[in-house]
Amino acid sequence: MTTSSDKAARPLLLLVEDNAKNVRLFEEILGANGYRVSVATEGEQAVELARTLQPQLILMDLQLPGMDGCTAAEKLKADPRTSEIPIIALTAHPMPEHRRQMLDAGCAGYIAKPISYKPFLAEIASALSGQLQTV
Ligand code: MN
Repeated sequence: MTTSSDKAARPLLLLVEDNAKNVRLFEEILGANGYRVSVATEGEQAVELARTLQPQLILMDLQLPGMDGCTAAEKLKADPRTSEIPIIALTAHPMPEHRRQMLDAGCAGYIAKPISYKPFLAEIASALSGQLQTV
């Protein structure tokens, strides 16, 4: 049973990442920093899980099998059930046009992999606090 104080203390993040090694790394970092993590490995699955789990934040890899991360982000932002959930885009191939594309798709932030530990956690904290201000 999850109480509302658990929810505030241990926010649920949806990690969308198809690389198993990255999944383990992110789960370890996020778990060690007090976050709960659910994982989707494909864009379609990410959209479904976001609807049912209502995570407080989504970390979205751009390069996914099937539906890519940008398309998944657009779907999430177009759906009133998930449009308020902030999304941080992750990419192993950062390019200026990706950044523009992801911000246009409604993403709150954009992070290059391999991640730097502190800026990564700071970005998550700031996206979560931004969300809390609007609640
Ligand atoms: Mn990928």
